[in-house]
Amino acid sequence: LVVLENVNKHFGDLHVLKDINLTIHTGEVVVVIGPSGSGKSTLCRTINRLETIDSGTITVDGKQLPEEGKALAALRSDVGMVFQSFNLFAHKSVHDNVTLGPIKVRKIDKDKAAARATELLERVGIASQADKLPAHLSGGQQQRVAIARSLAMDPKVMLFDEPTSALDPEMINEVLDVMTALAKDGMTMVVVTHEMGFARRAADRVVFMADGQIVEENTPDEFFSNPQSARAQDFLSKIL
Ligand code: ATP
Ligand code: MG
Repeated sequence: LVVLENVNKHFGDLHVLKDINLTIHTGEVVVVIGPSGSGKSTLCRTINRLETIDSGTITVDGKQLPEEGKALAALRSDVGMVFQSFNLFAHKSVHDNVTLGPIKVRKIDKDKAAARATELLERVGIASQADKLPAHLSGGQQQRVAIARSLAMDPKVMLFDEPTSALDPEMINEVLDVMTALAKDGMTMVVVTHEMGFARRAADRVVFMADGQIVEENTPDEFFSNPQSARAQDFLSKIL
């Protein structure tokens, strides 16, 4: 569904993505881990063109990424993204946060968008908060609104960049549970996270990045019990 071939990206002299080759199949859940600065966020951001690439190709559902314009907007709605900071519209209700994209970008009729929003807010467990402003919700609730908002666009793939790292510990699981349910439902997902419990229970594959490269990839069982590279062994010894 998402194919990266020989992708290279520089920030000035810094070579942040080095010949990345990665294929994400429909329904697959790929967890990306690695040290700070290894290029995990940049990798996510190139998939929906928040960052340009210097060479190589990226396709989503067989289509190469357009540079700009309407085609880019359409592609972005195929690729949902949830960030560490929730980026909700502060002056809009929770419900409106979820309907706005479908109405404006997807041109979906208001009643349909509203019904879908209610359904999605139920799915992430916050239907009762629909009329509140985001600021009146906890961090975990806000992040679940952000997930519902992304899902409302009917993305083909969802990217998560450290979705729980800004949350207080007691709120992390409520967000991970929503993500785990989404994974079980067959959503194609790329998840950058330090939550190794989530990786073990939800990932089909773990991709370990270091220094702009994919150093190792394996099933979670194999990766955690038997890391092959010295860098992965060193990383795991520090976090587990
Ligand atoms: P973290 O775990 O800390 O989030 P990461 O693996 O997500 O790290 P990236 O954010 O992708 O790493 O950054 C990779 C490298 O690129 C880092 O050295 C970072 O400083 C650099 N970098 C990221 N964005 C930019 C930018 N817009 N301009 C210049 N350098 C950048
Ligand atoms: Mg990052």
